[in-house]
Amino acid sequence: MNEKPSILVVEDEQKIRTALRDFLEYHDFKVAEALDGLEADRIANDKQFDLILLDLMLPKISGEELCTRWRQAGMQTPIIMLTAKGQESERVAGLNIGADDYITKPFSLEELLARIRAILRRTDPARAVGQTFDFAGLQVDIPALKVKRDGTEIEISKREAAMIQYFAANPNRVISREELYREVWNETLTDLGTRTMDMHIAKLRSKIEADTSDPQIIKTVRGAGYKYEA
Ligand code: CA
Repeated sequence: MNEKPSILVVEDEQKIRTALRDFLEYHDFKVAEALDGLEADRIANDKQFDLILLDLMLPKISGEELCTRWRQAGMQTPIIMLTAKGQESERVAGLNIGADDYITKPFSLEELLARIRAILRRTDPARAVGQTFDFAGLQVDIPALKVKRDGTEIEISKREAAMIQYFAANPNRVISREELYREVWNETLTDLGTRTMDMHIAKLRSKIEADTSDPQIIKTVRGAGYKYEA
């Protein structure tokens, strides 16, 4: 089985922190807590988390300052900012401090959970779909780099496997070329990158689509990107 995703909760208000911890543990996350900015900085530098919930207004070092600092240091852990009602959330949305999302207090825990899951699907598709899974009726085996279609085994490359995993983890959502390239190639999209990716998509379609001139699994959304319709 996969390990539980780990979340660092940075929140100075004890009631909120405890509620978050209980709720997240109930939903099978591994939770660590930090009570102020200094402690958060120490813990986050010491250990890697799958996601950080970061309160904006914190003693010692503010969430805004922490977020900026961590991003400047190259930390890529997804961050959801917790902000109070009012100008704070607007400030966070307006400022480019590198948070992946923000949620305004008081928030519903279910809403927060949905956002956490969406971010984890995006950032860790392998965990979201696993190593063997169904993809539009095809049986995908990632470790074997094979796709089975109507009883026939088709070999896929590592890159194609990564693309399938990413699409499978993000069904029914338009994925921009920039996003796909960033997540599968781990690079910023360039003109050359666009051509490379288009070639890989075409090759993948030739393996999994019944009719490549009318793709039904990985659809092109004109001017927007691609979409896997589950
Ligand atoms: Ca606070």
